Amino acid sequence: MAAARILAIDQGTTSSRALVVDELGAVLGIGQVAFRQYYPEPGRVEHDADEIWTSTQEAIATALAAASVTTSRLTAIGITNQRETLVAWDRATGAPVAPAIVWQDRRTAPLCEDLRLAGHEETIAHHSGLTIDPYFTGTKLAWLLESQPSLRSMADSGGLAVGTVDSWLLWKLTGGAVHATDFTNASRTMLFNIRRGRWDETLCEILNVPSGILPRAAASMTNFGYTDSDVLGARIPITGIAGDQQSALFGQACTRPGLAKNTYGTGAFVLAPAGREPRVSENRLLVSLGANTGKAGPEYVVEGSVFVAGAAVQWLRDGLGIISTATESEALAGSVADSGGVTFVPAFTGLGAPYWDPEARGAMFGLNRGTTTGHLARATLEAIAMSSADLIAAINRDLPQPVTELRVDGGASANNLLMQMQADLAGIPVVRPTNIETTALGAAYLAGITAGVWESEEAVDGLWQPDRSFEPRIGDDEREERMEVWHAAIRQVSGGRPGG
Ligand code: ADP
Repeated sequence: MAAARILAIDQGTTSSRALVVDELGAVLGIGQVAFRQYYPEPGRVEHDADEIWTSTQEAIATALAAASVTTSRLTAIGITNQRETLVAWDRATGAPVAPAIVWQDRRTAPLCEDLRLAGHEETIAHHSGLTIDPYFTGTKLAWLLESQPSLRSMADSGGLAVGTVDSWLLWKLTGGAVHATDFTNASRTMLFNIRRGRWDETLCEILNVPSGILPRAAASMTNFGYTDSDVLGARIPITGIAGDQQSALFGQACTRPGLAKNTYGTGAFVLAPAGREPRVSENRLLVSLGANTGKAGPEYVVEGSVFVAGAAVQWLRDGLGIISTATESEALAGSVADSGGVTFVPAFTGLGAPYWDPEARGAMFGLNRGTTTGHLARATLEAIAMSSADLIAAINRDLPQPVTELRVDGGASANNLLMQMQADLAGIPVVRPTNIETTALGAAYLAGITAGVWESEEAVDGLWQPDRSFEPRIGDDEREERMEVWHAAIRQVSGGRPGG
């Protein structure tokens, strides 16, 4: 098929984006619209679902205009989105019935503690692949139905629809005709059985969620329905959906064992394909379904995340004021040969995988009279690389085949010094592609494969092009020594050990 025009909607936590992509994977136009964050109480983070939708519509209009493409010219639409965020709306009117509860929201921490005390941890891990945490959609939904009896009765009478952001956008794009989600998003709800590929009765019962309010779940590469011509001006098939991290994994063409990707944004997210056999992580990683769910059946992915990655660089800029842009961190860190004995653990909001310690806080070790801002900047970049190396080590312990190549994207992947540190500390090549819009590209590829633009998942391999590769330059002994210093610092802030 010649001259395809695929619209990829990339609905993120702070902005909604849209990209027009052609059959070579080239980006022809981009639109991006930020929207409001609501912090009604400490620990609570909300979005207005209507603002998510209007910002998405504006981003689409901008991208189409930038690419000089009319809606009717579009071949297909793909959606990728912030995961776990809960949207609830009225089936009759399509109006949101409550603020969207964002993935960052911690209001359900007490409910999570109750679930743990009631002994549900093992069942939840086995069925959903997840650890009990407010992060996931399930307890947010349980909280909503519990705190608003009118919504519970609306649910009982069939008037309520809920879903993650992909479901909400799909509903709006189809003019209310389709209430569905994909396996990757469903995997993050704590209500989905990743072994069976369907909503889980036991989990719904534990959380007292009536399954009738949930969307239909299907593989990422499915024809989910058509846009309503009153909404976008034409009837276009929506043929790919995936949560942002799984979409990025697909956009990085990480479809075979041994490959993994790391997205260096505010936090860092490492994902690796984990084969077609379901598993429970033995190293406190999360297991989900991947987007690569074509003819051969569903594929699993393992995932670990670091809460503070690029955010530590932001802190150098806004908290310490020692740089004026994130980019400057590279030159400042490069002005010294090493961190001068400084180790920085930027656990501002606790530690993520594999430690999972919400109570841990940040610390700096090894300061002396000769410590300079250069050393602090260097220790900050090292912290990002070391916490990512911990995730890769945990993945290597979990999977039969170790990671042999790390593909990178996200804002901080532009930092060459950081990428070299990552290669050194993980002991594997780190490869940055020419196009680092991998999240949006993943959605475009999923939609394009289903729509017949590309023949198969393998065709996407050919679209992924390496730009720069960073090879490890230190030996195993030095790597182990440096990681041991890092782990000693981690023990100081939390008492946790990798996999412990
Ligand atoms: P998000 O999608 O989470 O908002 P982005 O992918 O846009 O994140 O990346 C922005 C993050 O990356 C910020 O935290 C910023 O501090 C960091 N960052 C951006 N450029 C650099 C750089 N050259 N070196 C180090 N960190 C960087």
